[in-house]
Amino acid sequence: MKLNEVIELDKKHYMNVFGDRLPVCFEYGKGMKLWDTNGKEYYDFFSGIAVNSVGHSHEVLNKALKEQIDKYIHCSNLFYIDKQALLASKIVEKSCADRVFFANSGAEANEGAIKLARIYSKKNFGPEKFEIITLTNSFHGRTLTTVSATGQAKYQEPFTPLTPGFKHVEINNIDELEKAITSNTCAIMLELVQGESGVHPLSQDYLNFVKKLANKNQLLLIFDEIQTGMGRTGKYFAYEHYGIEPDIFTLAKGLGGGFPIGAVCAKESIANAFKPGDHGSTFGGNPLACAAGLAIFEILENENLVYNANEIGNHFLEKLSLLQSKLGVIKDCRGLGLLIGIEFNSAIAIDVRNKCLEKGFIIGSIGTNTLRIAPPLIVSQKDFDSLLLVLYRLLAQYE
Ligand SMILES: *Cc1c(COP(=O)(O)O)cnc(C)c1O
Repeated sequence: MKLNEVIELDKKHYMNVFGDRLPVCFEYGKGMKLWDTNGKEYYDFFSGIAVNSVGHSHEVLNKALKEQIDKYIHCSNLFYIDKQALLASKIVEKSCADRVFFANSGAEANEGAIKLARIYSKKNFGPEKFEIITLTNSFHGRTLTTVSATGQAKYQEPFTPLTPGFKHVEINNIDELEKAITSNTCAIMLELVQGESGVHPLSQDYLNFVKKLANKNQLLLIFDEIQTGMGRTGKYFAYEHYGIEPDIFTLAKGLGGGFPIGAVCAKESIANAFKPGDHGSTFGGNPLACAAGLAIFEILENENLVYNANEIGNHFLEKLSLLQSKLGVIKDCRGLGLLIGIEFNSAIAIDVRNKCLEKGFIIGSIGTNTLRIAPPLIVSQKDFDSLLLVLYRLLAQYE
């Protein structure tokens, strides 16, 4: 299909929630690269928003999916599912969780986490303890309840009334958090690096304080690791950087390497609040999705990709600081592992992103001033050096 034909059909029949998309349609991908309908080659430094963790068309992932397709794709959760049990065990082995539930997306995993926090608190402390504190500029998903959890008015206002029971406090602000906690509070829900609002890592001091307050007030800690989990930040889960374990955490984006799957992961005592019938899903954790998740763990282990994310991410961030010292347009470079933000002093981010795309480099922009870079975990130093050269040449024009 030609690009203009795709655009015409999309404009006519798809709900216009994405506005004018970037005028590219991809046909093939392999490793770090994608090719569009005109045969043009691109380097992918965005991974479908931190999703394609092992790059495109990875042999091991594709083989696992094909093998499962040839056996059976789906069966109901009324039956035991071998791949589901194996993937849950794998997540438990690699994390602080004791039990896992699978959903189909990030938002849905967060819905599950919120339900679990509420039922746990209701059973243990009574019905008044239901409120969840989240951060302003957070992002937790697009369902009505996760929009209510998300601390951004632009996602909420069109859809009021929202799900009640959410309060938002400023990131890294200890006083505000302390004031927000009441006898109604049941949990604090956080992203350890805020992805959608510009790649802002939480400070260690703040998280230490959050943990202290949670202990003192019998609050659950929920970490939304949908973007930061599965090796993205150079550890399997971002909480490992901070040395603070959550009671509940959620996964999605990188977990299936592009196949839709989300997970609610929790400590035994919390997970046990769910009794048969309290939660469920038709598709969640189906054999094909779990085959993808298992293949991703296998690839991360065999190719040492979590280590790679740490090494290569640090390397890139160091080189970016050098760039920053040479170029006045860069205000700040920050990130953790392979989740990296570059903030400019002026509103050039969209222009820079578009020019990179023209040159065959896919990166993301957040708002008007910040770029988000989140390549597959297979990225090499050499790949990054090519991106740096392109960025350097482009940014020099704004000096
Ligand atoms: C992407 C994302 C979500 C939502 O995931 P979906 O799969 O789009 O529903 C939630 N939280 C965070 C931190 C995310 O990055």
